[in-house]
Amino acid sequence: MDKISVIVPCFNEEESIPLFYQEMERVAAQMSGIALEYLFVDDGSRDGTLEVLRRLNRQDPRVKYVSFSRNFGKESAIYAGLSNAAGDLLVVMDADLQDPPSLLPEMYRAIREEGYDSAATRRVTRKGEPPIRSFFARRFYALMNRISDIELKDGARDYRLMTRQYADALLSLSEYNRFSKGLYGWVGFKTKWIEFENVERAAGETKWSFWKLFKYSLDGIVAFSSTPLYLASFCGVFMCCVAVLAIIWIIIRQLAFGGSAYGWPSMACIVLLIGGLLMLSVGILGLYLSKTYLEVKRRPIYICREKQVNQRRGSEISSAEHAEEEKAQND
Ligand code: UDP
Ligand code: MG
Repeated sequence: MDKISVIVPCFNEEESIPLFYQEMERVAAQMSGIALEYLFVDDGSRDGTLEVLRRLNRQDPRVKYVSFSRNFGKESAIYAGLSNAAGDLLVVMDADLQDPPSLLPEMYRAIREEGYDSAATRRVTRKGEPPIRSFFARRFYALMNRISDIELKDGARDYRLMTRQYADALLSLSEYNRFSKGLYGWVGFKTKWIEFENVERAAGETKWSFWKLFKYSLDGIVAFSSTPLYLASFCGVFMCCVAVLAIIWIIIRQLAFGGSAYGWPSMACIVLLIGGLLMLSVGILGLYLSKTYLEVKRRPIYICREKQVNQRRGSEISSAEHAEEEKAQND
């Protein structure tokens, strides 16, 4: 019997969780030879999410949860889920049913029969999403693939079934700035890609504003590429070369024709341009510096306020009851 841990990051998902649980149970009933464990991660929700989770836990002892002391973000929730799950296989899924549970049997076969270490999903359409958001998302994936070493599939979801070994590899990357889509690729292993059509949210609303997504994409770039830094240096070298040529030209012109008092507007433009480029370079530098700064502080990735989980070791299941104010050790 394989035990699959279903890890679900939840932020204000009181309406979606019961729908998700129902759908998941329906799919699991069709799969033979597996046992499920649910691990919901309440990412500091401000609605009744935690209450819903407590109730589910009382009804069904396979439902476990971890609740954060505040909102730490989906990446931290995934990390907490992976480190607290007890299953042989682990799957990360959104609570809003945008990651169709019906793909799970196929993903399971990929790992158990075809010998893959993980089965990942990507959506091939983005219908139902604002066009401007899709446009920038596509540009982001194209850019990331050009400027970083890792391969990012367009439309890749965090929805992924993985072996314990794969999950442990992810956990060994204990960085504070977590960009899962990149980390998944970075650890390697054999991954099967499964494609599906975009599904709209079952209930509630998206937690990602355009601005949040923009910041998230910058995080991804900073975490997996140093190209912007090279670009800044390259610009600097290029401007220097232009400046040297211009100086030589001005000296020759002065010697040949004399009288070079004109040309102040062009001078102002050049000063502005160089000033702008300098600021841009300093900005890029600052971005990397700030990420490094956060990293060296070695703050915990999340802080747990309350949890109900299965202990990982051995086959017997014991419960860690309400471990309050417990800090996650990122070892
Ligand atoms: N989520 C989270 N913490 C956050 C934001 C989102 O745990 O700070 C969860 C959310 O509850 C959902 C998943 O991440 O289960 C995906 O969020 P959402 O559906 O809002 O993103 P979208 O599908 O619109 O990209
Ligand atoms: Mg969603």
